[in-house]
Amino acid sequence: MRAAAETLEVLSPRTLKEALAMLRDAAAEGRPLTPLAGGTDLFVTLNAGTLQGRRFLDLWGLKELRGITKDGRGKQSALRFGALTTFTDCVRSSKVQKHLPILAAAASEVGGLQIQNRGTLGGNLGNASPAADSLPVLAVADTTLILASSDGERAIALGDFYTGYRASVRRPDELIVAIEVVVPKGRQVFRKVGTRAAQAISKVVMAAIGHRTAWGSVAPTVVRAHKLEAYLDGGGRDLAAAQQLLGDEIHPIDDIRSTAAYRLRVAKNLLAEVIPANR
Ligand SMILES: Cc1cc2nc3c(=O)[nH]c(=O)nc-3n(C[C@H](O)[C@H](O)[C@H](O)COP(=O)(O)OP(=O)(O)OC[C@H]3O[C@@H](n4cnc5c(N)ncnc54)[C@H](O)[C@@H]3O)c2cc1C
Repeated sequence: MRAAAETLEVLSPRTLKEALAMLRDAAAEGRPLTPLAGGTDLFVTLNAGTLQGRRFLDLWGLKELRGITKDGRGKQSALRFGALTTFTDCVRSSKVQKHLPILAAAASEVGGLQIQNRGTLGGNLGNASPAADSLPVLAVADTTLILASSDGERAIALGDFYTGYRASVRRPDELIVAIEVVVPKGRQVFRKVGTRAAQAISKVVMAAIGHRTAWGSVAPTVVRAHKLEAYLDGGGRDLAAAQQLLGDEIHPIDDIRSTAAYRLRVAKNLLAEVIPANR
């Protein structure tokens, strides 16, 4: 049953510092606050009656969490995204189009335009769904998440962030404040396979940069196919062998959106697009 809105509490900090203090105090009191960004995931759970929290921290007004910048030059250059960067921001950013076009491609396939206008990268990461479309892109690049609490910041490699299905190392007193992505070299590919072109959650989603691939909707968390990458780095080009390695690294399941067998087959077919490009 839909959760009654009058039972919910929303705090609206004006600054990041204020937000982090609210999170700290709430965690200390044992009355944790759930961060609320665009609300496109949280409102679904509100409507479905599965919303966990009752107290929310509205991040939408925090200017410190907005903006896409590029720092450094050459090897060291990186894109930095504020956690409130929306999918529309990614689609429209000339920096993203130039340096990380697979993120613009992924963002343009998220939901519909309304969802792209409200849905954020921080929310996609924070929601921790294995089907989240930005995650393979961020996982295949060298991505670091900046987490902040009232005690300061810490940087976590995306590969170390998730601990299992919808579980991460983020503490209740922390926010994701930024996402830093080293500007990659190599051919970039993004493919999403869903029921239709818009408003469909992925059955399989993949991103590739050179020999690196990362896969969504095929395991409890986003998967970087390291053994496959080592095979390709070592000069291996046999498609059947590469597909076998990929099959060993992903663990698709049957669910309401697809079957394990279909997902495995689609993932192997998508891999065929990556291998010829690297001959
Ligand atoms: C109709 C529809 C279609 C959709 N289609 C897609 C799709 O195609 N692909 C896709 O990937 N997703 C899709 N989604 C899911 C959703 O839009 C995305 O996951 C989006 O990125 C969530 O961002 P948000 O800002 O709205 O997050 P919210 O709903 O505000 O939050 C989501 C979760 O992240 C946490 N969170 C938010 N910001 C932070 C932060 N800064 N630090 C720590 N935790 C944080 C929240 O506490 C919550 O647990 C769809 C949703 C709807 C309703």
